[in-house]
Formats: sequence, C-alpha cells, structure tokens
Amino acid sequence: MPGVFIDVELSDEARGDAELAQKLSDACPVDIFAAGDGGTEIVEDNLDECILCGLCVDAAPAGAVTVKKLYDGTSLSR
Ligand code: SF4
Repeated sequence: MPGVFIDVELSDEARGDAELAQKLSDACPVDIFAAGDGGTEIVEDNLDECILCGLCVDAAPAGAVTVKKLYDGTSLSR
C-alpha cells in the first residue's frame, strides 16, 4: 500500500545507486528504504511511519531524495 500521508521520491540516479541504497537503509529509523539488487527500493507499507527526521535527505546527494508530506503539500529535500 502506498502512503496516505507520506510519499518518498528518488531521483533516477539515486534509485540505481547500490551504495546509496545501503546508506538510506541504514539511516531511516522506520525502514522505508531497502537495498535491493538494482539499488534503492521504497518499502511502501512503511511510508506512513515516517517521522520526518530528514536523515535520508541528509544521507543522499542534493536532489536525490524528496520526502513529500501529502497532507499539506510541502516536502523535505535539499
Ligand atoms: S525523513 Fe526519516 S523517517 Fe522519513 S523516510 Fe527519511 S529517514 Fe525515514
């Protein structure tokens, strides 16, 4: 199930970067990122557990990760 309150978008480069996948997987306290064979996978069932800590945004290059707050239209990114 996709999130009702939160969506996370990855740039194409971020999606295919296995090293970044592991960083994101390690950074997120609620396991929204999984390191798969081809790079980063989003664990949709966990999206609404996001606590908006920003650790994923900080762990990735600028523009790679955007955490979207679907309930107010704002987002976390850099
Ligand atoms: S903001 Fe925090 S809880 Fe939300 S996806 Fe990023 S690391 Fe996970």
